[in-house]
Amino acid sequence: MGLSDGAAKNRPKAGRTALVIHAACAGLALLIVTSLAIVLDRSVTEADRFGLTAERKLVDGELQHQIDAVVQYQAELSFWDKTFAQLEDGTVDDAFVAEEMTEWLWADFGFRWMIFTDRAGNPILSVENGAKVGNGEGARTLKWTTDLLERADGLYNDNVHADGNGWRLSRPERDTDALRASIPEIHASDIRVVDGALSIVVVQAVVPNSLRIPASRHDPIFMVTVKPFTARMMNDMEARLGISHLEFSSVRDLAYGAIHVALGNCTEPSCMVAAWTPRRPGSFVRSETLPSVIVIGLFATLVMTFIALRFGSVVSALETSEAENRHQARHDRLTGLLNRAGFEQALAAAVLGVRERPFTLLCIDLDKFKAVNDNFGHPAGDALLKVLAERFATKVAGRGSIARLGGDEFAVILDHSVSRQEATALAQSLVIEAQIPVAFEGQLLFVGSSIGVAFAPDHGLTPREIVPAADRALYLAKNGGRNRVHVAEDGDAVCVLRDKTVTEVAA
Ligand code: GH3
Ligand code: MG
Repeated sequence: MGLSDGAAKNRPKAGRTALVIHAACAGLALLIVTSLAIVLDRSVTEADRFGLTAERKLVDGELQHQIDAVVQYQAELSFWDKTFAQLEDGTVDDAFVAEEMTEWLWADFGFRWMIFTDRAGNPILSVENGAKVGNGEGARTLKWTTDLLERADGLYNDNVHADGNGWRLSRPERDTDALRASIPEIHASDIRVVDGALSIVVVQAVVPNSLRIPASRHDPIFMVTVKPFTARMMNDMEARLGISHLEFSSVRDLAYGAIHVALGNCTEPSCMVAAWTPRRPGSFVRSETLPSVIVIGLFATLVMTFIALRFGSVVSALETSEAENRHQARHDRLTGLLNRAGFEQALAAAVLGVRERPFTLLCIDLDKFKAVNDNFGHPAGDALLKVLAERFATKVAGRGSIARLGGDEFAVILDHSVSRQEATALAQSLVIEAQIPVAFEGQLLFVGSSIGVAFAPDHGLTPREIVPAADRALYLAKNGGRNRVHVAEDGDAVCVLRDKTVTEVAA
């Protein structure tokens, strides 16, 4: 049994569903805020990734553009009848050097080295910083460009074909959309460090505009130019690309995670790369969208809080009212004890396992209670019922359940832990409790109590048997002079009351 339903203050508390609603709303709000944060984070990451890809392409394209520009300027000399004619006898006259190389390529475009060389890398003319220098110095510079010379020579061989007595170079395809002159594909270029300076290096075979090469001049002469990158070039590139801190560095010296593109064809750790500080558009995306995300997040949280509070309180009120109803259905409004329905439920539960767990039933009826009503008024009777209910409940506490069946009738189910002797003693103590006068509005109210005691299963196996047995004992207590306990005798079992109501017997 273990039932201890008692005072009204122990009524069940409602609000579990409201808690679930609060938790669900909080979870939903958290989900929305987290989703917004994840979307924002993804947008920032994707914007940064997209920005970096675009910047890499831009830097790569810009570097290629610089190389193309050097190729174009150099082609003005290397793809020209006058230059081809100059080199016919293996020399270049000073006027040509002064006008075309010093005045033009060096003074106007800053070509540091201009070297004419045969395919074996033996310089014919070496010009450094606009002035002719010894070919020994030119040969030293050519060491940096050996592979480019070989590539240019290979391209020349691929493009030159026998034609009559001489040779003819394939004509480059015309591209009217390229907005620059089409030149034969007989050059090789790269960005690399030459003599300590990062430079654009171009090697082109010298050919006439007609692309016809006399039989005697099949072996080509190449023009090698070295144009170092200057600080102004870097600044101009930064301005054009909209990036900052553009610099060239070796892969080895690169800060971990730095943004860079490879320069030229080098794959060694010593290779130079172009590195820069990326713009990271993600931070722009973040700063632009964060206020909206915060507003949406706050709004969602507010809505969820409103729903949680509004529905939570409605559900809580419903739950409280339902719990109240359930409580009232089983409890006596005046005393807070179990009512008849609650008692029947408790008794039904008790008889279920009665063979393993015997129990005791006490039926209590106050003596001369009507007189209290008559002499002191109904409120006095009510007050007395409440006080006695509390006294009885305190005595029973933890050992069973107590009910007010109606009027001045009470019933106690004592669970199997209470022996027969203990049950009888408890009944005696309840009689004494009832005898103690109750103070009400300056007066003392006196009643007594008669108690009938029956034991299950000895006096009955079912409520229809055990209740009449206890009632019969109560009847005998009343008849015996009231204010006493009568314990059902074993012979009283399933007594004459089996087919009668208690009231009929009492009457
Ligand atoms: P007995 O000694 O034979 O038991 O007589 P009694 O005066 O106690 O009267 P009885 O048990 O026959 O009747 C109980 C009375 O309790 C009848 C009714 O007027 C009164 N009563 C019933 N319900 C309430 C209630 O809720 N409050 C009050 N104050 N009185 C009630
Ligand atoms: Mg009575």
